[in-house]
Amino acid sequence: MLTQAYPYPFAGRPLPCLVGGELVSHGRTFENISPVNGALLATVTEADAALVDRAVRAARAALRGPWGRLSTAERCNLLRKVAERIEQRFDEFVSAEIADTGKTLEQARSLDIARGAANFRAYADLATARGSECFEMATPDGRGALNYSVHKPVGVVAVIAPWNMPFLLMTWKVAPALACGNAVVAKPSEETPSSAALLAEVMQEVGVPPGVFNLVHGFGPGSAGEALVSHPDVNAIAFTGESATGAAIMRSAADSVKALSFELGGKNAALVFADADFEAAVSGTMRSVFSNCGQVCLCSERVYVERPMHARFVDELARGARRLKIGGPYEGADLGPLISRAHREKVLSYYRLAREEHGEIVCGGGVPAFGDERDGGAFIEPTIVTGLAEDARCVKEEIFGPICHVAPFDSEEQAVQMANATRYGLTAAVWTSNLQRAHRVARQMEVGMVWVNDWYLRDLRTPFGGVKLSGLGREGGMHSLAFFSAPMNICVKL
Ligand code: NAD
Repeated sequence: MLTQAYPYPFAGRPLPCLVGGELVSHGRTFENISPVNGALLATVTEADAALVDRAVRAARAALRGPWGRLSTAERCNLLRKVAERIEQRFDEFVSAEIADTGKTLEQARSLDIARGAANFRAYADLATARGSECFEMATPDGRGALNYSVHKPVGVVAVIAPWNMPFLLMTWKVAPALACGNAVVAKPSEETPSSAALLAEVMQEVGVPPGVFNLVHGFGPGSAGEALVSHPDVNAIAFTGESATGAAIMRSAADSVKALSFELGGKNAALVFADADFEAAVSGTMRSVFSNCGQVCLCSERVYVERPMHARFVDELARGARRLKIGGPYEGADLGPLISRAHREKVLSYYRLAREEHGEIVCGGGVPAFGDERDGGAFIEPTIVTGLAEDARCVKEEIFGPICHVAPFDSEEQAVQMANATRYGLTAAVWTSNLQRAHRVARQMEVGMVWVNDWYLRDLRTPFGGVKLSGLGREGGMHSLAFFSAPMNICVKL
């Protein structure tokens, strides 16, 4: 039943760090556990502060070496080779990602790993095509001057990634950072080290010079993460993860005034108007609530439906949720496990809280029983709740699991007000067939990204990020290139 279609690439060997072109696999280790059945997948080399320091020094040295002298075109050609090599080793990447996360084979193939390769190609193309500013100016002597800007790298960039889409989110930052000529020290989540370890191999295989891409494994506080973000010689931090972690990183980074780009948590709303295409709104909301077992920062955890459609919508959503097949990655399931038993405990605590806060659990609310090794995993039931007050903790706090609260609204103004009544501001989905309303409501959402009549439709050139507690700055397209570059103006007297 749990047939593993592709062998796990690190079976029987510890996952190494990569520092200055050297694979390091001695010292302290921690365990990488399968969320599918609780089995030990591999041990992982944990970088201590000394190894992180070596990685940062290696990155600094690489900037002064051949890497620093490559043209943008040469650098980007190397990144295209990284994309090609990921595609050649596609099944290994898929297997690594699936082993760490338990996500479905279909998603790992079509989204996570495919996008990982696409990130390198997209940023290679964008960086190659980028121009620069030029301003002619008058001078008192009439000769004039010419200002032009050059894009220099920021320097040593720390990339810190979460576990929900490990490879997609790490490459989303590593690719533009390298395209802009920086050197990177990357730290994947302690829950999902494997695809990053394969990326380290790929970097070596295609000839990325030593020190340009360094990989350190470990945890946050008191481990590799904290050592990296507080290192005085790191110039910029690109981080995706929880809002509270972003705040902690900001404090660590303050002393050396590092540039920060943060993609943080969300408590996203979907607004379904009574004039929406009912089937499309239900199936889109199913996707926006349950994709990746609800572990996507863009997922909707608050669904607001115009009152005349509310009861029918809840019924249909619950019918869909009950039909979802829960299971392991190679079983054609719709819903894999959560990332870990610890995260399942957190999500289950919200299932309990929803009852305590007088919500009605329309479906789900517990843990499935399989009667086989999957009972040792982190599976959980998709859950729909109604009847909570708008100030209930379940409506206010990010849960990051397959759960949503569905509430009715009576007017467009009320819908907008409810959607915006949160400290987060990442995404919103608006379902309506009224074109004017679509534009009007979309604009009023206090978020970084709105989808109208869809969800998670992504063009990599568009700005990506959030407002309020959901982030700082924008990535995507030229926004990423701007963050990872330090423009320098050169003024030439004519
Ligand atoms: P997390 O904040 O617990 O961990 C993220 C990373 O930060 C991990 O690599 C972790 O080891 C590291 N870390 C933790 N504490 C640190 C510290 N003090 N210093 C340095 N590094 C530290 O997040 P997670 O649980 O891995 O991911 C889930 C969260 O990420 C959710 O809140 C989700 O909404 C958010 N997320 C946001 C986006 C987005 O684009 N906005 C995308 C995906 C996930």
